[in-house]
Amino acid sequence: MAMRLPDDEHVARLSRAAEAARGAGVETLIITPSPDYAYLLGYSAPALERLTALVVPAATAELRLLVPRLEAPLARHALGSLLSVVELVVWDEVDDPIGRLVELLPAGARRMAVEDLMPARFLLPIRERLDAGAEIVLAGPMLAALRRRKSPGEIERLRSAAAGADAAMRAITTERLSGRTEAEVSRRILDLLVEGGHDRGDFAIVGSGPNSASPHNEPGSRRIVPGDAVVLDIGGTRDGYCSDTTRTAFVGEPPPAFAELYAVLQRAQQAACDAVAPGVAARDVDRAARRIIADAGYGEQFLHRTGHGIGVEGHEEPYIVESNAVPLEPGEAFSVEPGIYVEGRWGARIEDIVICTASGGERLNGTPADLYLVG
Ligand code: ZN
Ligand code: ZN
Ligand code: ZN
Repeated sequence: MAMRLPDDEHVARLSRAAEAARGAGVETLIITPSPDYAYLLGYSAPALERLTALVVPAATAELRLLVPRLEAPLARHALGSLLSVVELVVWDEVDDPIGRLVELLPAGARRMAVEDLMPARFLLPIRERLDAGAEIVLAGPMLAALRRRKSPGEIERLRSAAAGADAAMRAITTERLSGRTEAEVSRRILDLLVEGGHDRGDFAIVGSGPNSASPHNEPGSRRIVPGDAVVLDIGGTRDGYCSDTTRTAFVGEPPPAFAELYAVLQRAQQAACDAVAPGVAARDVDRAARRIIADAGYGEQFLHRTGHGIGVEGHEEPYIVESNAVPLEPGEAFSVEPGIYVEGRWGARIEDIVICTASGGERLNGTPADLYLVG
């Protein structure tokens, strides 16, 4: 269940966060409960109306975690031996938490970075207490730069999450889908994700028939029938790390037009996976898939980017998209998920999580990328 990695990894993340702050000319990071917070400390704190904030000074190693009294037991338990480097500062119901936080900031601080997801109900009062000239910037870009390269421990987490999603995908594609509603199949997949070792299933998109042409179809009351394409896009969280995989099924024998569309998609997805290597611009992975799809005449039917990073969040950097010219680096983890969607008729998508390694892309998902023929 626990997402904590060994202490030294969290200590290293915290010191790299401070280093990133220094590099950005920021005196302090203020991180409220969020994926960034979970990444740094190894546990998810609830984002409540009561202020919880990790204060990371750029210049010193004095890490402090401000928590409301009722959250202190959870924090103490979750941090364990990390308490030797993170001092817990507890505020009581009668205290002024914003005042307590401001006391923890370096005197006369001029430039602070706050968690991107900090609620405005904290941000605005904090800003009011700071010196008039003090500047507040977003911490997100600094932390994203750390989070995008995964450690071996994180890659193991992603690998076991992917294995759990594969188990769920194998199971659902051997079941009869015809006669069931999308919502029923979706609920079944969420159960299968937990059976496959996830702590929770986060989503199970089931798009059948014409709904398969809608990439984020909300599974509903439509009943699956023979002749349907069915896009299954599923994912959950296991030990703090996310899975995300898509396979496409067809109920019965696919007509030649669909088989042809699928063959193009499969080649495009393979080409994008093959394009992954350190130093290759993220956009070139997108282009590798897009070129094949466009050349086959489906360019207008590929409605979204090729992929997104994945880690403690389901969508994070690096994004595999035309606008991203940043070269890939070893340790980056992201989806490769081209799709072709013919509105009103049918669609297909294939999605694998891929790690950029020194020698190229490595797929974490192990199920065949073929079209799944189902009953
Ligand atoms: Zn999506
Ligand atoms: Zn997905
Ligand atoms: Zn995805």
